[in-house]
Order: sequence, then structure tokens, then C-alpha cells
Amino acid sequence: MIITTCPVCLNDKTELSPVVFEIKVTDEERYLIRKCQNCHHNFTWFNHEVDIRSYYDDKDYAVQDTKKSIFFKIQEIEYNQVLKKIKSFKPLPSDILDFGSGKGLFLHFAKENGFGVKGIESSVPRANYAIEHFNLDINTDYYKSGSVFNKKFDILTLFHVLEHIHLSENLLGNLLKDNLKEDGLLVVEVPNFDSWQAKWAGNKWLHLDVPRHISHFTPQVLKTLIQSHGFQIKTASYFSLHLGIVGMIQTIFSWFGYKGFLIAELKRKKTILLILGLLCALPFAILLEITAASFKKGGIIRYYAIK
Ligand SMILES: [Zn+2]
Repeated sequence: MIITTCPVCLNDKTELSPVVFEIKVTDEERYLIRKCQNCHHNFTWFNHEVDIRSYYDDKDYAVQDTKKSIFFKIQEIEYNQVLKKIKSFKPLPSDILDFGSGKGLFLHFAKENGFGVKGIESSVPRANYAIEHFNLDINTDYYKSGSVFNKKFDILTLFHVLEHIHLSENLLGNLLKDNLKEDGLLVVEVPNFDSWQAKWAGNKWLHLDVPRHISHFTPQVLKTLIQSHGFQIKTASYFSLHLGIVGMIQTIFSWFGYKGFLIAELKRKKTILLILGLLCALPFAILLEITAASFKKGGIIRYYAIK
């Protein structure tokens, strides 16, 4: 595929849109991040053919069993906070459809909290992990339109999904129209391109993740997109215990010349140098990220919206 159309407003006259960053993945592979002149959305722009799917098969995205790792515990704490907030809008009994449910961690904790849960995940290895480890009901069809489970849900969640997809086929609109109740709650989380960690790391920001990430949302663009589907933002959060802190650690590392992809390195063999670096950076990363989030400049944007 090539991407020369703005994923949000579908403006296709983007050849002259300002270039925010140039990113070199290999010598042959270069990507631009352009800012759409029409809607101000920042997106990954390339006019050479790229097989994006192959990027999801590589080792950085390999499915690993993390149930015994510290990340599992951190995500449990984080998701339980999110579920508490969801309950304040939609008390039990209520049900959740998680689009892009990955390995099913969020749905697993939601189920433990008493929610009815279903997931959509087109990556079969990830969906299988969710089915085998957490006994979840996951649909693996590539979603375009229509109702997936022949019912409408009280809550629709999309965690770190929208940055991966092009919205040209009105995917979000179709999903909302046919799968969420009229008074349903929409929860969306994406990386925050307007965050301090993004600004400070520049083209080395962890969550740029080009070319897997097509969209690089600011709070304003994401708000406008959600409002365009008739929803109003009720609450926002800019703090993520795992993705926010890990993103800030990579930003700090980038000041010392680090050019790697920290999530992948944490999955691979951890070296003494990496562990020492993490221990040194962690207190600063926590402090900086909490401060950033209090100014709405944390590494993620999480919106809770209803009609
Ligand atoms: Zn645009």
C-alpha cells in the first residue's frame, strides 16, 4: 500500500503538506510524517509500495506469554483503573466490545470485573492467545462494516488501534453505528503526538513506530474526529502507567544517543547495560511523565465519550 491521503479528512492533495519528520527505517526505506494542511492531522506519508502487514509479523510484534511478567501486573493495575472509570458511566450489568483486542488482557480483566466481553482481533496468533489463555470470544474477521456479534454493546473500546488504521472506508463510523448502543460509551486511547515525550524525542519517539503507526494524533484532532461521529468527550486522561512511562524512558535514552525500539529490546534478551539504564532512568521518567500528564502532555490520550 501507499499512503498519500490524510487518514482523518481524506484530503489527497498532500504532496506539499509540511514535513514534520523524515524517518529512515533502512537505507532504502524512508517515510515522511506530514501535517495535513486541511485538518492539521500528522500522518505517516509514503508514495512507494510498502507491505505493512509484514511489519506485524516481525520479531518486535511477536506474541509472547507475559502472564508472569511485571508488565502483566502493571497492566492489571492500569486496566482496573480504566474499568472503574467505565463503571462510573455504565454500571454493571453491561457489556464491552473491544476492537483490536490483541492478546485479550483488557477483556480478561473486564471479565473479572463482571462485564460481559467480546473482542475483534484480525491477528490470528493474538486472537488465539486470548482464546487459549483467557477463554475469550474473539472474532478474527477483518472488519469493514456491519454488526459483528449480532447485537449492540453498552461500551466500545479501542486501545491503541486508531493510529494503525486508515479511516478511508468509514471504519469508525460503521463500527459505532452497528455495534454500539445509542446511549453507549466510547473509550479511545492513542499515543499523544502533542506530549512532552514526543516533542523531546523528535523522530526517535517510541510511539512514532513507523510505518505501523499511520496516524499521530494530537488531543485536538482526536477530539474533532470523535465529535464528527456525534460523540462528546466527557473525561480525558493523559497518563498511562505502562505505555506512558516506557515512552518517557525511551525519550530519556534518546538524549544519550539511543536509537533502538525499547519495547522490542525488553522482549528480547535483556542486557546488564539495558537493566542499569532502566533503573537509572525510571525515577526521572515517572516524575516527568506524571508532571507531563498533569499538563495534558502525557504520552497517551484516553477519551471517554458519549452522544
Ligand atoms: Zn486531513
